[in-house]
Amino acid sequence: MTVQRQDAWIIAGLNIIMADLPQGNDMTGVLRHNANKGCHTCKITKELLSVHNQDIVTTLRYHHITDEEILKISYKTIMSRRDQLCTEYGLRSLPSILDKLKRERHLQTPQDVYHATAKKIGHLLKLTCKLFSRKEEDNFIDIWKNFEIPKRWSSLSNLITHYNNFMISIPKIIISCWIYVAKTMKAVFNKKFTLDSYEELQQCLEEEFSIFSKVFVNFVNLPNIHINIYASFDTC
Ligand SMILES: [Zn+2]
Repeated sequence: MTVQRQDAWIIAGLNIIMADLPQGNDMTGVLRHNANKGCHTCKITKELLSVHNQDIVTTLRYHHITDEEILKISYKTIMSRRDQLCTEYGLRSLPSILDKLKRERHLQTPQDVYHATAKKIGHLLKLTCKLFSRKEEDNFIDIWKNFEIPKRWSSLSNLITHYNNFMISIPKIIISCWIYVAKTMKAVFNKKFTLDSYEELQQCLEEEFSIFSKVFVNFVNLPNIHINIYASFDTC
């Protein structure tokens, strides 16, 4: 292009794409999470999403292999055969909007820890609240409101008493889940990362991955929990 009447090469590079789970899949050309292979980082089937000790290397998606699969899909002229291949590979038949750019679609679209975390905690909060009686729910809402207002920190001692009263009826294992969440959040949102903090993060994510699906059936094979195995991997 011309810049100040002189020809100039303009070079732009694509670095990392951060998106929530469905958009991340769209950007990488992978089917959404309700598909059998709906993870944009690996090809694990949906009933194995929360399986422990997965051999990630053998299930990961690799850019050059995805390219070959997309090509094979595009060669199919019969719609049913094309759909069959899309299901087999967990890929969309239409190209991603970013496919014209030079990029490594999987490595440059890591799982976004913020979106995954927010949804995961929202899910845990909903499940925890279901365990409350009406009175406990009212207590919880009161505490929540107080917690949100910094000026009210002067009444912290009352809050702690209140908190203990209402937590008594909550199973300890649920409290453990929240402790793991709190530890993970601290590790995830560290301002600085060292080798030690990466190890701590990885351990927290593994513990969370392990306990959530044991305590809540709703967390079994949930994509937001599955990506715990990548969050530390992506940040390394
Ligand atoms: Zn995966």
